[in-house]
Amino acid sequence: MLWIGSHVGFQKNTQLLGSLKEALSYGENTFMFYTGAPQNTLRQSINDTLTEEAFSLMKEKGMDPSKVIVHAPYIVNLCNENNFDFSVSFLTQEVERVGKLGISYMVLHPGSHVGLGIEKGIQNIIDGLNIVIQNTKDLNVVILLETMAGKGSEVGSKLEEIKQIMDGIHDQKRVGVCIDTCHLHDAGYDMSDFDSFLEEFDSVIGISRIGCVHVNDSKNDQSSHKDRHENIGFGKIGFDSLCKIIYHEKLEEIPKILETPYVEKEYPPYFYEIQMIREKKFDENLIEKIKMQ
Ligand SMILES: [Zn+2]
Repeated sequence: MLWIGSHVGFQKNTQLLGSLKEALSYGENTFMFYTGAPQNTLRQSINDTLTEEAFSLMKEKGMDPSKVIVHAPYIVNLCNENNFDFSVSFLTQEVERVGKLGISYMVLHPGSHVGLGIEKGIQNIIDGLNIVIQNTKDLNVVILLETMAGKGSEVGSKLEEIKQIMDGIHDQKRVGVCIDTCHLHDAGYDMSDFDSFLEEFDSVIGISRIGCVHVNDSKNDQSSHKDRHENIGFGKIGFDSLCKIIYHEKLEEIPKILETPYVEKEYPPYFYEIQMIREKKFDENLIEKIKMQ
């Protein structure tokens, strides 16, 4: 079965129920959200009534809550020693919120070492994650480390770096991987030969550790280290390669999440992109259709 959704909003008055309804309006059977603005620390407390209503609506619609994903805020950078205590405590609170929402997976950008060097950066991430996981040891939230494009001093653009972080985590069942097609392509991996990529991934990390796939096309060439997402089929990866990844038999049960850009910053593309993915046929007029919604 195809589990496909997109990034959706999370509003203070509707919370999980509102996120779910937005996902349903795009024809999705899973989704991903931030529990608050990703660039600040203001957080609303979780309203359990809204969460319960969301869970009964998911049941009614045949959705599996274990496929729903939270994205950690990107202001968290465990590499940065000046901000280490803040990052650890904010991330701990975030995992607690995810647990309270009944969600099982949280995607995290590993961090940027900003001149500390890759080895020191990786060590700080390991130390921080072990504290966060210990702080939340009664929760079953799995932290999925996202593969990165390698922009600036980002850690995690090589599978070996992700593996090194994972190896340092004491509680192995609390850590996994989120692969992002745009980031992998920008980092230098060839998405047109995904079988070879998966083989490499399996030998370095293990396919069973993948908890989420971010499906994005890329505005830039392979190895560009840019991280600019493009609408499905309109970038340098292309529709056929993305479709092969989405429908790959080894990733069948893994949720696929679109983080493609709004058209002209105004029109959400997800309903149209997902419809096109379900039809498995590229529509070159898709952007025009999105603008006419
Ligand atoms: Zn992503």
